[in-house]
Amino acid sequence: MTTAPSASRANQATVPGTVVDFVGVVKNYAGNRALAGFDLTLHAGEFVALLGPSGCGKTTALRVLAGLESVDDGSITINGENVSLLPTSRRDMGMVFQSYSLFPHLNAGQNVEFGLRMRGIKPAERRARAQAALELVGLHEHAGRFAHELSGGQQQRVALARALVTEPRVLLLDEPLSALDAKVRVQLREEIRRIQLTLGITTLFVTHDQDEALAVADRVAVMRSGTIEQVGTPEELYSRPASPFIADFVGLSNKVAGTVHRGFAEVFGIRLPLLDPAHPDGPVTVSLRPEDVEFAEAGLAGRVVSSSFLGALRRTSVRLDEGTTVFLQHAARIRPVAGERVLLRLTGAPVSVEAQAPQAVLE
Ligand code: ATP
Repeated sequence: MTTAPSASRANQATVPGTVVDFVGVVKNYAGNRALAGFDLTLHAGEFVALLGPSGCGKTTALRVLAGLESVDDGSITINGENVSLLPTSRRDMGMVFQSYSLFPHLNAGQNVEFGLRMRGIKPAERRARAQAALELVGLHEHAGRFAHELSGGQQQRVALARALVTEPRVLLLDEPLSALDAKVRVQLREEIRRIQLTLGITTLFVTHDQDEALAVADRVAVMRSGTIEQVGTPEELYSRPASPFIADFVGLSNKVAGTVHRGFAEVFGIRLPLLDPAHPDGPVTVSLRPEDVEFAEAGLAGRVVSSSFLGALRRTSVRLDEGTTVFLQHAARIRPVAGERVLLRLTGAPVSVEAQAPQAVLE
């Protein structure tokens, strides 16, 4: 694919440096609170992924920023200007949605030109800018094709070119990859990230796919019930989850019964440091990362339940003699067999905990 950044002088003029601030944004739909005091800052040129379970308000957050929905309370500012009451057309956003939204009666080039035509740009400039935008997404040779002559991935590239050609201040992506097959999805997310970095455009990317969010974003904001539960770099969210909800949502974890006593968690009689040392004493559910459980010469005794090959790694679940089942991830060269007796140790990495009645479940 030829997508030299220099190919798009028009798009490189996209204004970098846009800062977006959501402050206490509330949005209700007929008594249903979709955003419940939503606070988030997108720094200039930053790529932020909004991650969270279905119905937590991700799309609503994107739509209120776009001006496609009004806000009931709070404000949205762009570079300090309150845009909460501005119509979509004056917010200067580029948008790409999940569904392929190309006009079927226009070819790729005409689709990309559309926004420029609406702005009264002259034909010659329109064509040049559309061609440059298509070049940016690697499709300049397909300008004459109609949607039905393009693959799903190619259609989303055209949609991306169409979103960028007007040089918007902010790029909004609402699950743009979810209709694509796995391989194309990975290719296109890398492509989107490359283009975003090239242009330095502030971007909000809605997804429910944690791999996608962690792979491409500068920061990930995890939502729950209309608010942000935690925002941080992918590494921060993974290694210092603020709650078991985040630990579960970002990566896999075992949830096992334990107790907190004086700043430490006790699990299977082993003392582990807490990510939040101020957590009050009492029974808790502990989130234990699979990579923080290891095979050992001595330790917790159990029996292998199953082991699956994941490429470079294997994931093995072990039922401990005390009754809890835990899973661990380890090098693929170790091949446990179902029924085999094994010993496990915990690495001692800090854990996140949640106060609640003890239970032993595998997730
Ligand atoms: P998903 O990942 O399933 O797309 P989401 O996190 O993007 O979910 P939203 O689409 O923002 O969630 O919806 C948040 C809440 O608001 C949900 O409970 C949803 O049912 C409700 N909702 C969204 N749009 C409307 C609407 N137009 N009318 C009524 N309720 C709505």
